[in-house]
Amino acid sequence: MNASQWIAKADKYIMKTYGRYPLVPVRGEGCRLWDADGKEYLDFLAGVAVNNLGHCHPKVVAALQRQAAELIHCSNYYHIPSQIELAELLCAHSFADKAFFCNSGAEANEAAIKLARKYAREKHGDAERYEIITALASFHGRTMATISATGQEKVQKFFDPLLHGFRYVPFDDADALAAAVTPQTCAVMLEPIQGEGGVVVPSADYFRRVREICDRHGLLLIFDEVQVGIGRTGKLFAHEHFGVFPDIMTLAKALAGGAPIGAMLARDEIAAAFSPGTHGSTFGGNPLVTAAGVAALRAILEEGLLNRAEEMGEYLLGELERLQAKHPSLVREVRGIGLMIGMELTIPAGEIVLKGLDRGVLLNVTHDSVLRFVPPLVVTKQEVNEMIAILDGILEETNR
Ligand code: PMP
Repeated sequence: MNASQWIAKADKYIMKTYGRYPLVPVRGEGCRLWDADGKEYLDFLAGVAVNNLGHCHPKVVAALQRQAAELIHCSNYYHIPSQIELAELLCAHSFADKAFFCNSGAEANEAAIKLARKYAREKHGDAERYEIITALASFHGRTMATISATGQEKVQKFFDPLLHGFRYVPFDDADALAAAVTPQTCAVMLEPIQGEGGVVVPSADYFRRVREICDRHGLLLIFDEVQVGIGRTGKLFAHEHFGVFPDIMTLAKALAGGAPIGAMLARDEIAAAFSPGTHGSTFGGNPLVTAAGVAALRAILEEGLLNRAEEMGEYLLGELERLQAKHPSLVREVRGIGLMIGMELTIPAGEIVLKGLDRGVLLNVTHDSVLRFVPPLVVTKQEVNEMIAILDGILEETNR
């Protein structure tokens, strides 16, 4: 079947939960994808910051193959060695002492919300201490608790009643956050850089002030690193750029090189609020995905990809700034850290993404008018140049 026949079949059988671009990828390698018609694409979306190692990284593929032949699933036991190894690796490279594994970013945030509430109630002996402050324009997932945490009405619309106990404040405004704290507040949950909110990087001292507010009121600080973690910004975790550490962190997307996984990490004192029977997930920490996770995390650390994300991020940012200077009426701002970059346009960006698709480059739009560039961290200068030439041509045409 060709690509359009597959799309017709998908329209018949797949629920239309989100807008899909008319592309049917069948194979991937590094920064390239090929569709069902054999057309090649340069991928600057990477499964929305999932394929940080590039598509089908040989070490991830080998780990999956090896593990699949040994043990694919078991639950309620000690999974030797991959789950334990992945937890050890994550704790060795972060503030955390313990990990909980699940299957997605939303699930990781669900676990963080439950842990924060249980910890706060036990610590303060106050059943009313359940409120969590999150940011406007944030995104934390699509389950009921995580749409309730998400600061975007369009995500929540039609699904009320939402989960009780969330308050939203403008991002990058520590005064607003301080003013929103009540005796009921137990935690603050923030993305270090807002992803779906339009690639928004907060000012340098924001998180330091947020940490102070949390410490002053005995609140837990939760960082949602689902989109920006695992090397995307040039550090393993984006919060390292701000020199501020959370009490709880959530991960997913890039953690297992494309295999579905989520993780919630915490310091020992907080993790201890979960005891047997309080939380769980059948597939969470499954041997197959955690084997992929160990391979992916080692590859990120051992193949110099953090430095690479920083270097290529600077190069890509510079090239996008060059396009901004060339097309000032179309480009409002270019911003980002490492390979998490947004280009805010003065027009809706959907048309530009469709034209990119036609010309063989996968771009992405978030928050209506922000082009989001999240290529694999293995992207080369030549590949950046190729994408920039195509984008330049599209902007040129749009300007006419
Ligand atoms: N948090 C953030 C910051 C995200 O960007 C996303 C996904 N875009 C999620 C949570 C939800 O992750 P998942 O789709 O794996 O549930």
